[in-house]
Amino acid sequence: MGKIKVLPENIINKISAGEVVERPASVLKELIENSIDAGAREIEIDFSRGGKDMIFVKDDGTGMDKEDAILCFERHSTSKISKYEDLFKVKSLGFRGEALSSIVSVSKVYLLTSTNGNEGTKVSIEGGKILDVEPFIHPRGTTIIVKNLFFNTPARRKFLRSDGTEKKYILKTFKNLALSFYFCSFKLKEDGKLLENYFKGEDERERFFQIYGEDLKDLISFKERKVGNLSYKLFISKEIVSYPLPSFNHIILNSRVVYERWLYNYLKDNYPKRSWCIFLNIPTEEVDVNIHPAKTEVRFKNPSKILSLFQEEEIKKFNNSPIIYVPKADESLFKVQETLQISYKTYDFIFLGQIPNTFLIFSEGRDLIILDPHSAQERIIYENLLEKNINKQFLLIPKIMEITLEEMEELKENQEILKNMNFEIEEGGLKTLKIMATPSIFKGDEPLTFLREFLRNKKIKK
Ligand code: ADP
Ligand code: MG
Repeated sequence: MGKIKVLPENIINKISAGEVVERPASVLKELIENSIDAGAREIEIDFSRGGKDMIFVKDDGTGMDKEDAILCFERHSTSKISKYEDLFKVKSLGFRGEALSSIVSVSKVYLLTSTNGNEGTKVSIEGGKILDVEPFIHPRGTTIIVKNLFFNTPARRKFLRSDGTEKKYILKTFKNLALSFYFCSFKLKEDGKLLENYFKGEDERERFFQIYGEDLKDLISFKERKVGNLSYKLFISKEIVSYPLPSFNHIILNSRVVYERWLYNYLKDNYPKRSWCIFLNIPTEEVDVNIHPAKTEVRFKNPSKILSLFQEEEIKKFNNSPIIYVPKADESLFKVQETLQISYKTYDFIFLGQIPNTFLIFSEGRDLIILDPHSAQERIIYENLLEKNINKQFLLIPKIMEITLEEMEELKENQEILKNMNFEIEEGGLKTLKIMATPSIFKGDEPLTFLREFLRNKKIKK
């Protein structure tokens, strides 16, 4: 007897779930994308325990009739393409018909939906098996509740990270999608408590600052360009920003946050040490979106054509900034040099020059040393705080600091370290910190800058 057998459908679905559903945030991504594809303009999200216990997405899209509400859970069931050629002009976010079947194969799902607000359907399904279909009153649109992700694949459930870390993935996914769809309003809740509330925006700019904070407005420059049917809008942090910016290097290609290796490297090389976010619109025929199951990676069919869009751009000049000898380097150089001499006597660096506003170049014997003064200084402060016994100073009036939800999670994870440094910090609200005491080396607003760096820049914590 032969050894080969055809796998049953439920195993096939669990395998494909491995590709589509990596963690709660990937479920959220698929559900929001379905809502957008269904024409939603208002989307409400709730989650519990980093999405492991529950993810809820409600939209005001087209909804589904009873027949579709049952069929949508079948593998390769989709309303978005019907023939092979359609693949090359996909405008919707989904098209593989795999998301819902994958999700329901590893969780318990309730689908509530209606196409008109008068009559509707509720489908309960567990591990891919439909348990119940009943009439249900629901406003026009769809609500999907996903419970106990990976309940039947314990090995995968074990791979999930802490609730806090999964929450950070949820926040990232949520923000990426909200950034792409400024014309949609988004509410994000955790256990019923409102975390973020984005109203419908006028354009990408409005949504960008809703997400990253109005206080960044002066620190970001904006460019747009249109050539034929190609266009882009680009946000770039200004060249010298001492204020630690959140990192927002994103490519949003035809409303989809994607990774495209060529464009990513191009922007990274052309805007070193700056944050950028590009909204690129090009005809769908120019892109291959079908190279990754989660559709996060795409490929341009003709990169040089896209390049032409940037060609007359001034960013060219960043391409080959030479190492210029500056006889009088900036102040940070001397601080760093001084510390290097004091703390690391063994080093015998000779200063050669500085790339304007960025790296310092030294030689040591036959070695060339390239040093980022900003990071070096951070590192020095950080190590001093950790190792030396620096006193605690109580503030007469606590300092108030606004942070993001992600930074609040970072804070929770690093509470001990900050306490050891002699910070005393209290939560003053969902996104507000009250700083009661700081290490005594800091003056004025320095502790705020340090904290912001600390919470935003994981590098310095290693
Ligand atoms: P895909 O999005 O690739 O088509 P999915 O498994 O995500 O596959 O969804 C299957 C089908 O279910 C979709 O093609 C769509 O017709 C329907 N559907 C899913 N979510 C919604 C929703 N929120 N509103 C309306 N229809 C939906
Ligand atoms: Mg989908």
